[in-house]
Amino acid sequence: MASFIPEEKIAEIKDACNIVDVVGETVLLKKAGKNYLGLCPFHAEKTPSFTVSPDKQMFYCFGCGEGGNVFSFLMKQQGTSFPETVKLLAERTGVALPEQRQTPEQKRRLSEREAILDLNNLTVGLYQKTLQRDPRGQAARDYLSKRGFRPEVIDAYRIGFAPVGWDNLTRYFERRGVPLDVAYKAGLVAPRRQGQGYYDRFRERIIFPISNHRGKVIAFGGRVLDDALPKYLNSPETEVYRKSHSLYGLDIAQAHCRAAELVYIVEGYFDVIALHQNGIRNVVGTLGTALTNHHVRMLRGYIGQSGRAILVFDSDEAGIKAAHRSIDIFAREFVDARILVLPPGHDPDTFMTKFGPEAFIEKAQKTKGIMPFLIDAAIERHGTSMEGRIKTLGDVAEPMAAFDDPVARSVYIKYLSERVDIDETAILERIRQVASTAASGSPEGRLVRMAPPASTMSKNGSAGSPIERQLVAMMLQFQDILPEVRKFNIVALIEDPMLRAIGQDVLAGEDSAVQAKDRPENEEHDTLRRLKAQLSLREEVWDYRGCLNFIHHFVATRNRQEATPLYEQIKQAEKDHDEERSLQLLKEKQKHLDRLRAYQKKLDS
Ligand SMILES: [Zn+2]
Repeated sequence: MASFIPEEKIAEIKDACNIVDVVGETVLLKKAGKNYLGLCPFHAEKTPSFTVSPDKQMFYCFGCGEGGNVFSFLMKQQGTSFPETVKLLAERTGVALPEQRQTPEQKRRLSEREAILDLNNLTVGLYQKTLQRDPRGQAARDYLSKRGFRPEVIDAYRIGFAPVGWDNLTRYFERRGVPLDVAYKAGLVAPRRQGQGYYDRFRERIIFPISNHRGKVIAFGGRVLDDALPKYLNSPETEVYRKSHSLYGLDIAQAHCRAAELVYIVEGYFDVIALHQNGIRNVVGTLGTALTNHHVRMLRGYIGQSGRAILVFDSDEAGIKAAHRSIDIFAREFVDARILVLPPGHDPDTFMTKFGPEAFIEKAQKTKGIMPFLIDAAIERHGTSMEGRIKTLGDVAEPMAAFDDPVARSVYIKYLSERVDIDETAILERIRQVASTAASGSPEGRLVRMAPPASTMSKNGSAGSPIERQLVAMMLQFQDILPEVRKFNIVALIEDPMLRAIGQDVLAGEDSAVQAKDRPENEEHDTLRRLKAQLSLREEVWDYRGCLNFIHHFVATRNRQEATPLYEQIKQAEKDHDEERSLQLLKEKQKHLDRLRAYQKKLDS
């Protein structure tokens, strides 16, 4: 398949952007020596093993083996294709791309995503205008001001209004020549049940645009002004919107989450706005969906390793339900999560109005972790009678089993043991039981998950012999030595095909990640990319003399290895008194020795 973006443009983009900045947008990075370290966005981990090298412009995770350059990072993280990623970075860096010749499929996906984003942006503008200036927006303006929304917050969150009527937006699109099938794919209009044509999805609703972390509008939420149902209506999932990957307000909150190493997770649009208006800007909303590991991993990228997530609920019941639903994810992603339940009858908005933000922050500082919260809630519910204590244990054994971390688990067992006065070993026994039942119940049950995570490192790390890996790492890291490598044709002596491929790439001055851009889904290529990143980022110091010695050593070993079967064959032939074969083998041996001597001479010169 012909590539449609010229190599020099790709190189230009690569030169123009810094991988540390790009990764740093979503992963909290700390300087460590000449590299940067952070928590891997691609696997769950407690201590950072995700390394970004500004010198090499590469990343590598020593935990899961993921690695590559700035393109592969974004592709993996955002699920975009190579051409989309190039385009994205071209925009950022201001590199102009030539007119593109793409495959129909590439064209369709790229243009569909773009068309949807464009359309969303156009729509936000219209809804904002309607809210701010249109006579039809009066009721919405009144409603928002009654709820205490300040103009600057309405602006910041780009809140708008979709007026009454079935085809305001549809006709607006028609007037502008927007194809309605695209509007349908954007989730903005729906096909009429009878006859032809489309009608507006959002009617007579306050509109809350949902953005990605870069501030591009990917979906909409609409709330009615009265008690009509449904109270909230959201966009369907589209080419650009996945519920499990989106959080309301993240674009505005991210810098504040990073600064505070803390994020508040609330339930709806109004909660986000309420906190924001009261000066608490590190807040995102889940929009009625359960938290997913994508959400948690995304947030962890901002709050970092020692960060904290506080989930805010307006009732015990909601808090308990959410804690049960999300404890697995938090335990697995090693995020310190807390539960904050507001006093009965309050939501964040009314709480702020009545008690002020200081009281909220004070309450937040006293929150309990998810597990102690669940334990206390169970005791509250079941009481401290003998039956009550047994019921409590029954309620919390399963969430406790979610903690693979033995330290966390033993802390919670101790806490529970003290609260319900049940022996620690009895509690542990019960947790084990729960865990094994869960495991036998489903193949993906808990015990399976409790096994140590399979490491892909061994798969990548074991490519070739240590000495071959060392050789390729040297070629990647110490380019001064390449003339010597070329002179002795050493790459040809590498036995491992993947290492040899990387070696050939380095000599050709090519980047295999770029080379194979038209088939980024290719598994072999993926492994190659990771291996290359791994070898590039090994912490090593090289000097010219040392490298020459190493090459010498490599050639000598290789020749010895090659010769071993030959020497054995000679011995055998002599034993068999097969003179003809002996002679032929001895000639080969001589040739081998000559070659070896030639190598040595070149090396010594
Ligand atoms: Zn990783």
